[in-house]
Amino acid sequence: MTDSFFRPEIDTLPAYVPGKKATDPSVIKAASNEMPFPTLPGVQAALATQLAQINRYPDMSGADMIAQIAAYHEISVDEVAISNGSTDLVELFLSAVCTPDSEVVYPWRSFEAYPIAVQVAGARSVQVPLRADGNNDLRNMLKAITPATRAIMICTPNNPTGSALTHTELRAFLHEVPQRIPVLLDEAYVDFVDMDDAVDGIALAREFANVISLRTFSKAYGLAGIRAGYAVGNPTIIKGLRAIATPFGVNMLAQTAARSALQERPEVDRRVGIIKDERTKLTTALRALGWTGPDSQSNFIWVPTGDVTNELAALCEAEGLTVRAFSGEGTRMTVAEPEANLRFVRAFGKFRTAQHEKE
Ligand SMILES: *Cc1c(COP(=O)(O)O)cnc(C)c1O
Repeated sequence: MTDSFFRPEIDTLPAYVPGKKATDPSVIKAASNEMPFPTLPGVQAALATQLAQINRYPDMSGADMIAQIAAYHEISVDEVAISNGSTDLVELFLSAVCTPDSEVVYPWRSFEAYPIAVQVAGARSVQVPLRADGNNDLRNMLKAITPATRAIMICTPNNPTGSALTHTELRAFLHEVPQRIPVLLDEAYVDFVDMDDAVDGIALAREFANVISLRTFSKAYGLAGIRAGYAVGNPTIIKGLRAIATPFGVNMLAQTAARSALQERPEVDRRVGIIKDERTKLTTALRALGWTGPDSQSNFIWVPTGDVTNELAALCEAEGLTVRAFSGEGTRMTVAEPEANLRFVRAFGKFRTAQHEKE
């Protein structure tokens, strides 16, 4: 056996577990928080016109995509950096700011990509358990800061619990964080938030020079397959992110898709509205069956199934539904088409009955 060429922390990386892909067409996939709708019509049309030109390199800096994102948020182009999805930005940023003795503070359980990104950056994870309501525990995250802290991740709404912080509490937290520590606000699910005092990450990124808002086209825009995302932050940070990005890193189709998706914002909003209505229906049905998870501000719901998580996953599978099971902790179900949600309610009903029988 040859010795590994990689640094030891790379050889021991935990694998990212993707949502299960169904091979049987009758199985509905509700494991990856994707939108259940086909690609936006304008995006399809725009992509079709480019298929014959892929012999050319894309615009190197993605100037048009950046300009449209800036216009959409009414900010300046030097406050926007683009990427292949927002997970890519987390890895890129942490790799650029961490040194071997660095610590990165983030909530847990949260997005699975965080521990991997921290380890790839050669840094140490400082995981702060969530509050009982499924939110990032800001108070304990402040306490977890040490001289070695090089970055803080905030995930709101949090994946997989669906709980969202208020703007007021997040802003108060940011006032307490030392300015030398960058704070990444992962707002992948921002479009699904429906509450008073909702976080406005763009405003926070403009107010605090150490705050970066991370956005993606994978969720509300329904473009998970094309890989596009962006960061909004202080021009100094954005300059750094652009400097370390791979040249021509965001491909031509991704740039085009992102631009057309922004132009189809009314249709995006309509689709998001459908998912929110489905979320309300699902929430009501599950509450009636005794569901005790937190109210969701995202396009998924969390069922704290603890050590019987695999039993619910098996019942879902029997209904022809793939969900994301976090063994020993809970189950995450993407709010999807009505049929998917019906299947989940049926599976959850059977799960509850089985639990009662055991008692
Ligand atoms: C889906 C998701 C993202 C976005 O991932 P992409 O790389 O943009 O597809 C980021 N953060 C969280 C918490 C997510 O769930």
